[in-house]
Amino acid sequence: MLGPVILAASRSDRMRRLISAAPVTKQVVDRFIPGETVDDIVPIVEELTDRGLELTMDVVGEDITTPEQATAARDAYLALIDRLRDLGLGERVEMSVKLSMFGQALEGGHELALANVRPVVEAAAAIGTTVTLDAEDHTTLDSMFAIHEELRKDFPQTGCVIQAYLFRTESDARRLAANGSRVRLVKGAYKEPAEVAYQQKHEIDKAYVRVLRTLMEGEGYPMIGSHDPRLISIAQELARKAGRKLDEYEFQMLYGIRGEEHLRLAAEGHRMRVYTAYGTDWYGYFMRRLAEKPANLRFFVRSMLSK
Ligand code: FAD
Repeated sequence: MLGPVILAASRSDRMRRLISAAPVTKQVVDRFIPGETVDDIVPIVEELTDRGLELTMDVVGEDITTPEQATAARDAYLALIDRLRDLGLGERVEMSVKLSMFGQALEGGHELALANVRPVVEAAAAIGTTVTLDAEDHTTLDSMFAIHEELRKDFPQTGCVIQAYLFRTESDARRLAANGSRVRLVKGAYKEPAEVAYQQKHEIDKAYVRVLRTLMEGEGYPMIGSHDPRLISIAQELARKAGRKLDEYEFQMLYGIRGEEHLRLAAEGHRMRVYTAYGTDWYGYFMRRLAEKPANLRFFVRSMLSK
């Protein structure tokens, strides 16, 4: 019941100000967003890659209001990519981007987001890695998929995300699986209406398995974005049945969630990629993590009360 309330709060400016200013917020936020700058994040990237993990990096931010902020987002990713090149970590670390941060919701936003994200995709390719376009709320997805298709003409490794909770996803999965795309499948983290999305957990889980089967049997590269132990073992089984080798799909989980499972899957020989977010505009990302697990919210509230 709490999840939808927290997701509504994730879009409230008043709550953003309140929570961002709370004295203990930072220490709770650090569990999910372990740094604000490239300098903060480099030791974490080095530590995780040393442990046999791969990463996908999210410079947090979304819902920007000016084209200058979109340009700044592009530059933040370019600076990160420069740093990864200097560290020789290009092939182990890819980028995850939210097109809203690249200007998608502004006037002329589709073209603006494409113009801003293209240099990031080019720079990533130049160091031997790639970019995945995150899925945001359902109103943004036609534009995201069109940008994905456009980028793939020159950079076929560009990935995108699909969300099992949306009714449209089974058909998106068939199209993407047939044209050989890299696709991350997640359950979905936004508050979506019943006209477009399953609302019940068991319906979402069933849809996840149907879509996963399509991806595993298709031509593309499935990226299983979930911490759900049941779905992870189903994914292993479907991959085996589809005759996929260990390097023909990968698991992805979020930094700060089920860290021991990251290492276990990597030790079994799986490709395991940790989605690692950093930056100062962490509010939306943090609130979605609270909404996914009420215990996180209880911990957060307890920390505030104990101060
Ligand atoms: P759940 O059933 O929610 O969780 C399974 C178990 O995992 C829980 O019982 C708990 O033990 C643990 N767990 C899950 N979430 C948390 C948490 N926040 N804190 C502590 N424990 C937790 N969503 C989008 O809409 N668009 C995206 O682009 C997107 N990208 C993602 C990228 C990656 C790599 C991952 C892993 C998720 C992404 N998500 C994205 C979020 C996703 O949609 C889900 O909200 C999130 O993964 C929780 O679903 P779950 O599959 O882990 O299953």
